Amino acid sequence: MSENIAVLGLGLMGTALAETLLAAGHRVTVWNRSSAKADALVAKGATRAATAAEAVAAAPLTIVCVLDYEAARAVLDGADLAGRTVLNLTNGRPAEARATGEWVNGRGGDYLDGGIMAVPYMIGRPGALILYSGPRDVFDRHEATLKPLAEPRHLGEDPGLAPLYDLALLTGMYGQIAGFLEAAALIAAEGRPVREFTETLLVPWLHAMASAQPRWAEDMERGDYATEVSNLEVNRVGLGNLVIAFEEQGVKPDLLLPMKEIVERRVARGHGAEGLPGLIEELR
Ligand code: NDP
Repeated sequence: MSENIAVLGLGLMGTALAETLLAAGHRVTVWNRSSAKADALVAKGATRAATAAEAVAAAPLTIVCVLDYEAARAVLDGADLAGRTVLNLTNGRPAEARATGEWVNGRGGDYLDGGIMAVPYMIGRPGALILYSGPRDVFDRHEATLKPLAEPRHLGEDPGLAPLYDLALLTGMYGQIAGFLEAAALIAAEGRPVREFTETLLVPWLHAMASAQPRWAEDMERGDYATEVSNLEVNRVGLGNLVIAFEEQGVKPDLLLPMKEIVERRVARGHGAEGLPGLIEELR
């Protein structure tokens, strides 16, 4: 069914969202602080609103996708939100999402928060995922409309959940990128082909290692860190060797050092016989 949807913020991501909704057959009303960014969308059939308030008034659902929450609030300030749904796809923190949810609710509107797990060109294609949080009935009301953007995953009623899980996924990603960068630097320093190493060895190795992590997560939930596989004392010695090897090879181990330090700290506290999942206790 064709819906009218307002999209506020037409940067790279907002433009991809608006284009995909248009392509799915929806009526889309667009607004951007610098209005020229709406031109291409208007040429494709979107309606240009003169102000953000005008865009909000035109549609039951408003998607906001701007730089940060401060900008999102500034954009929505002055719009009549009563009876409207605001879906904030701006990247932010759980506390900001909860505060913005209360702020929208206080103006009579419904609030959903979202975390986009995709880059703009992936929007509307398989592999794109959007995490949603906020009242289930509000999500249900808009789910079909939002489906063309990405696979939707509703995490719960608390609006802070989408940014929480978004940040957790990004954290996993940055950790993995840190390992990739150090490994690539080690291989490159010997003049060995990095691409071949990455494709044939590193990626399969990371997949194999990652597949053990649901079991680690179970250990964390139970608080049971016994291991028969690889204890922290063994890892302490291994990471020590790794760092010395990096120095010998003329490569900086900077991204590995925090891991080495935390393992050393845990072992120094008497937990050398435990497995790696026990390191979570040092992060609490
Ligand atoms: P862009 O830099 O391309 O666009 C930023 C947008 O924010 C523009 O529309 C800009 O307006 C607007 N903006 C900034 N400050 C203000 C303000 N004070 N008042 C009104 N509008 C403002 O960024 P993206 O589109 O890439 O990102 C938008 C959001 O999407 C961010 O929160 C980002 O983290 C998130 N995101 C982006 C991804 C990506 O790969 N690009 C992936 C996942 C999430 P103007 O054009 O007038 O400057």
